[in-house]
Amino acid sequence: MKYCSECGKRITEKEIEGKRRLVCLHCGKIYYQNPFPTVDIIIEKGEGIVLINRKNPPYGWALPGGFVDYGESLEEAAKREVKEETNLDIKELKQFCVYSTPGRDPRFHTISTVFTGKGEGKLKASDDAKEIKIFKKDEVPSVLAFDHKRILEDYFNSQVKKIALYPGSFDPITNGHLDVIKRSLFLFDKVIIGVSDNPLKKFLFTTKERIEIIKEALRGFSNVEIESFRGLLVDYARRRRARFLIRGLRAISDFEYEFQMDLMNRKLNSQIETVYLMTDQKYSYLSSSIVKEIAQLGGCIKGLVPDVVEKRLSEKFKNIS
Ligand SMILES: [Zn+2]
Repeated sequence: MKYCSECGKRITEKEIEGKRRLVCLHCGKIYYQNPFPTVDIIIEKGEGIVLINRKNPPYGWALPGGFVDYGESLEEAAKREVKEETNLDIKELKQFCVYSTPGRDPRFHTISTVFTGKGEGKLKASDDAKEIKIFKKDEVPSVLAFDHKRILEDYFNSQVKKIALYPGSFDPITNGHLDVIKRSLFLFDKVIIGVSDNPLKKFLFTTKERIEIIKEALRGFSNVEIESFRGLLVDYARRRRARFLIRGLRAISDFEYEFQMDLMNRKLNSQIETVYLMTDQKYSYLSSSIVKEIAQLGGCIKGLVPDVVEKRLSEKFKNIS
């Protein structure tokens, strides 16, 4: 609607009582109108997402999408728009989020339900588009039409993997540690095992040896990384983009110390969350120092440590004695 139904003069958009309205500045008539429901679809294809270079204003790259037709569900509209604009079929369609900020579309107030889904078939631009392309995350143009830059930022943030850091001396790794690691692999996308390389501390195994042993003990596990670190734990976690610290709790007596450490870490970096896993009861008495003591005295440590540790410990103490 462009002209006033009362006086025939051109109507304009104006902010009234904090809201954008269509008004006739000539006779003062206010046109109340509902926002338009629309859909936008983040189509995952290959290793990227599909964007369209628009032929009509607002110009620029944008997500495929459009108006919901009368009698159509949001899902149906999303599927139809994807087919019309990209020639793809959409699978695993899921609602991602709703965007409603007035002005998100410079032409009219729209409320868009954004979907994600997997695109299947051969990509082909419609006549409405200049170009259609698949973009990887770091290739996405920095200027996008509508509020699609924000939508994609939210989307990529939601895709960020949950990375956890399990720090320790692991001198040597025990079955208690392994139990905590294996369980944490179910909870996180990736677990980094940070082997402390503190030059002030005396270790039985060198840093290199401790890493080798853990790698051997965790052979066959993916989504786990093993490396050494020096310096403040929270700095290391930040560097590796780990938002979670994993700590194993063996007994109530561990708790007080861990509680203090957590408060201190939080003071240093409030973005890090510490997650405590209770060690399996059968390992509750187990520690690297106890294992070393038993091994040094010639006791049996079978079942307490992985085979590789048993072997390495007996070699170590044979050389020492
Ligand atoms: Zn008027």
